[in-house]
Parts: sequence; structure tokens; C-alpha cells
Amino acid sequence: MQFNYHSPKSETELAALLNGMEDYCLLAGGTDVMVKMKEKLISPRNLVDVSGIESLKGIRETAGSLWIGPLVTHRELMDSPVMNKKTAALCLAASEVGSPQIRNAGTVGGNIGNASPAADTVPALLALDAKVQLNSANGSENLPLDKVFVGPGRTCLKSGQYIAGIHVSPVAAGEGAAFAKFGKRKALACSIVNGAAWVRVQGGVITAARIALGSVGPTPVRLYETEKWLVGRKPEPAVFAEAGLQAEQSVRPIDDVRCTATHRGKLARVTVQRCLEAATKQAMEVCVCE
Ligand SMILES: Cc1cc2nc3c(=O)[nH]c(=O)nc-3n(C[C@H](O)[C@H](O)[C@H](O)COP(=O)(O)OP(=O)(O)OC[C@H]3O[C@@H](n4cnc5c(N)ncnc54)[C@H](O)[C@@H]3O)c2cc1C
Repeated sequence: MQFNYHSPKSETELAALLNGMEDYCLLAGGTDVMVKMKEKLISPRNLVDVSGIESLKGIRETAGSLWIGPLVTHRELMDSPVMNKKTAALCLAASEVGSPQIRNAGTVGGNIGNASPAADTVPALLALDAKVQLNSANGSENLPLDKVFVGPGRTCLKSGQYIAGIHVSPVAAGEGAAFAKFGKRKALACSIVNGAAWVRVQGGVITAARIALGSVGPTPVRLYETEKWLVGRKPEPAVFAEAGLQAEQSVRPIDDVRCTATHRGKLARVTVQRCLEAATKQAMEVCVCE
């Protein structure tokens, strides 16, 4: 396979390079791209290696938000003290990706860019209200993460656009977040179903909620209807069970080599139930704010 290899060293260089370029593929950690190229699923004429761009690396706290560079690896995420303190569910999700080798090389930007319905960091990012910053030579825009996915392996990114950063909301006092994954093994397992929930509990009732599931449809999904239904209800087992049932009834999973659609629906129910239970427990017990 022949291709042109490019390795821009700044975002200015990257944006200029991508402007008008045809048939290219961005390369971050390469854990998806290299496999696809080797299996001849993709054969881009131009491979644009972004791994040398410093401004796409690192984790920063900004006013009321946490900024994650797209080149942050799963290992960096799960080891980050600030992320563990303020978004532990996301760190747990990162720790469930692949194996140590994959976590050392694979990045959060690549997990989003690959647009797998089973991507592990995505439900946690969705539950944390992630916004994705997309840059290009024509400017910058911020999109809610769930607007980024348009189908299996497909994002809404326009030609020339790249992920320049991911903003998530830290989990504050009175709030909690949780992640859960079902796979066929304990390691190196593609998720059969994964999911995450975030809740705010005030005065003994749920006042806001976000729930996300992966591997239950062509893209990861937010359960907006169930989120609304939860508001004003007490965080108690019957409520979690009903929310889980709503999840099972609303998702449209498929049969594949790993699982039947029916079983996936049942796992969606359990995932939502468990995540809500864990998130509300955290909201009522633990203060993770300064
Ligand atoms: C053995 C194995 C096990 C795995 N296990 C898991 C698992 O358990 N859970 C899981 O979620 N994933 C898993 N993966 C998939 C993969 O490791 C992750 O999706 C990883 O996060 C991809 O990151 P990367 O940096 O390697 O991406 P790359 O392979 O470099 O890129 C992936 C895609 O994202 C695009 N991209 C990269 N950076 C950007 C950017 N800044 N802007 C726009 N697009 C961009 C690329 O063009 C490409 O389309 C596994 C992969 C392998 C090979």
C-alpha cells in the first residue's frame, strides 16, 4: 500500500495542510487506523500524523470545565489526578479500554474519531455533557458530542476539520457519575453494552440527569426521555428499575457475533439501573468539589 505521510507540527500547519486536501486520514495513536490499513479496510492516499502537535495534548482546568486534548491517551486519562477527582467515571471508562498497550497508544480523540458504537470513553463523555471543539482553516465550532456521530464509523466532521479539544463538566457536590461495561472477557473485550449516568440530587430528589449507552444502535445514544422522566423523582430502587426498563424499550440493538439484540436490550436495562444507582449514591455521599 502506498501513501503520502505528513507530520505537521502545529495546528496552523495542520489546518493549512488539510485545507483542500483530498483522500486523507488523520493518525493519532494508530490503534484503529493501523488495523484498518493492514486489513485493507481503508487505503488513504494521505496519512496525516497529528501525534507531534503539542497543543492537542494535555488536560487543563478552565472556568467550570475540564479541557482534554484529543491526543490524551487512555493511560494518561486514567492516571490523571484532576480527572480522577472530578470525573472518575471517565477515568474508569478509559481504564476499561483494551489492554495496557492499547491504553498507552490509543487516544480520546481517536476513540471519538473512530466513531465505533462500542467506544468506551464515549458514554462517559456524553454523561459528562462533553462538547467537542472542531477546528479547520475556516474557523472553529463547538458541538455537543452526541451530534458528532452520524453512523457506525462515521462522524459529522467536514473535510478539513479535526478534533482540537473536548470539554467536560466536572462532577460537583451533590452530583455523581458512573460507568459500566459488559464484555465477553475481563480484558481486551469490545463492549457488548456500555453506559454511563450522571445525576444531580437536591433535597432528596433527582433534579437533573444524563444517561448514555453504547453498542445498542448505530451510534452511542443519550436517553433524553428517561432523563426528563427522572427529574423530580426520588433516587430509589423502583425508580432505577423503571429507568432501566425504559432504556430496554427505547434502544434498537442488533444481533452480532458477540450478542443477540434481545440480550443487549436486557444488558442496557441493567447498565442503566446500575449506573443510576452508583451515580446517585455518589451524589448523596461524596463531595468531590474543592
Ligand atoms: C486490540 C484492540 C483492542 C481495543 N479495545 C478497545 C476497547 O476495549 N474499547 C474501545 O473503546 N476501543 C478499543 N479499541 C479501539 C481503539 O484503541 C480506540 O478507539 C482508541 O481510542 C483509538 O485511538 P487512536 O489514537 O489509536 O486512534 P487512531 O487509530 O489514530 O484514529 C482513529 C480514528 O480517529 C480519527 N482521529 C484521530 N485523531 C483525530 C482528531 N484529532 N480529529 C479528528 N479525527 C481524529 C482518525 O482519523 C481515525 O479515523 C481497541 C483497538 C485494538 C486494536
